[in-house]
Amino acid sequence: MPDFPQASSTAPLTPARQDLTQFNTLGLSAWADAFVTLRSVDQLSALSDLADQYSRLLVLGGGSNMVLPARIESLVTHVAVTGVRLIEARPDAWIIEAGAGESWHGFVTTCVEQGWDGLENLALIPGTVGAAPVQNIGAYGVELADRFQGLTAWNVRQRRLVDMTATDCQFAYRDSIFKHGEPGEWIIVAVRFALPRPWQAVLEYPDLQRYFGLSGGTGAPAISRTHSSSAPTARDIFNAVCDIRRQKLPDPAVIGNAGSFFKNPLVEASVRDALLAQHPGLVSYPQPDGRYKLAAGWLIDQCGWKGKQLGAAGVHDRQALVLVNKGSATAADIMALAAAIQRDVSARYHIQLEPEPVIWQQ
Ligand code: FAD
Ligand code: NAP
Repeated sequence: MPDFPQASSTAPLTPARQDLTQFNTLGLSAWADAFVTLRSVDQLSALSDLADQYSRLLVLGGGSNMVLPARIESLVTHVAVTGVRLIEARPDAWIIEAGAGESWHGFVTTCVEQGWDGLENLALIPGTVGAAPVQNIGAYGVELADRFQGLTAWNVRQRRLVDMTATDCQFAYRDSIFKHGEPGEWIIVAVRFALPRPWQAVLEYPDLQRYFGLSGGTGAPAISRTHSSSAPTARDIFNAVCDIRRQKLPDPAVIGNAGSFFKNPLVEASVRDALLAQHPGLVSYPQPDGRYKLAAGWLIDQCGWKGKQLGAAGVHDRQALVLVNKGSATAADIMALAAAIQRDVSARYHIQLEPEPVIWQQ
């Protein structure tokens, strides 16, 4: 397990042209005119000097939530600051810090191996630790905000490191302060987690209920564990989430995708009730604030898009929320398909689907 902070590096940042095909999980062919890798916090001032020479800065982690154009003239910085450390073993929580460039799944795996439980529902999400707060990543009933202690970010124009709390980050459903404002304003360099002790399993999602043969999961299990009568451990849940995701979601290494392409719309109860009256199969979930979350994948499926293709872009045949690159798609192909889906869903349900990935405009 690497220590954090990592050994300092003051290696100069020399921008170079870079093929970004391997830096975006949609596998879109994209080139950066000026690309640098940030390996250490010691290089942040130099990065600000460089950023002053460009109109915009694109901060890139694993490119798993991005739609990139064919050419990017802005400065692109890939964040590769690594390291993981236990800050404190408090009676009520493990406090862990990870460098922004760590692989998210690698970090979750380390935590489970060390017995720092609490992130297992977020296993196998692609990308980096630094990007996780940007859209407050979530899956299977846990979101980053539930396990967040704080982060350290560099303000590129003001040239200062800032410690931020959850309140500062303004976390919301797949959203935070980092998704708003000027792109490239902040570079997150480290994230701290508070993993509650004692640990409690989160097993509400239907796929997990089915996997563990619990009461709430109806229907035949798509995949289930070998029977065991004991309560699932964090490692069991980690393995379950990995199994379920591998079965249901396309592996970006095999077929280009950016995960869910649209957010699940949040609507007032009156809107959901009216829709449910017209469409009794509507899939929706009550939210703590009284609103309802509609399953966008269901809306798209009902419009007949599952498994369909438009140009070189397609809709995944097992999960309609995922748009895929059929081989040679461009950002324009992906966005044309997204627009067609948005039109159909709007015409049928009067719901405007909002893209989840960052669409980088050149
Ligand atoms: P990138 O795509 O590189 O960047 C995303 C955004 O974060 C950009 O705005 C970028 O500028 C910004 N950013 C990146 N790094 C930093 C940094 N260090 N400082 C400041 N800004 C930064 N998401 C979920 O929430 N839940 C899921 O279950 C989930 N499953 C997925 C499954 C698949 C197969 C795929 C392809 C994607 C999935 N995603 C999911 C989306 C994606 O994995 C997450 O949003 C992830 O956090 C993106 O990480 P990244 O490093 O690839 O970010
Ligand atoms: P799923 O379990 O088939 O559920 C469909 C949708 O219903 C999900 O989007 C989920 O919302 C919602 N949902 C299901 N059970 C819920 C409950 N008990 N309470 C509240 N909401 C509930 O979804 P899936 O596609 O297989 O994905 C499984 C999990 O991985 C989901 O949490 C999903 O968000 C996450 N995931 C995210 C991405 C991404 O790119 N963002 C990609 C793949 C998977 P939520 O999305 O709000 O959880």
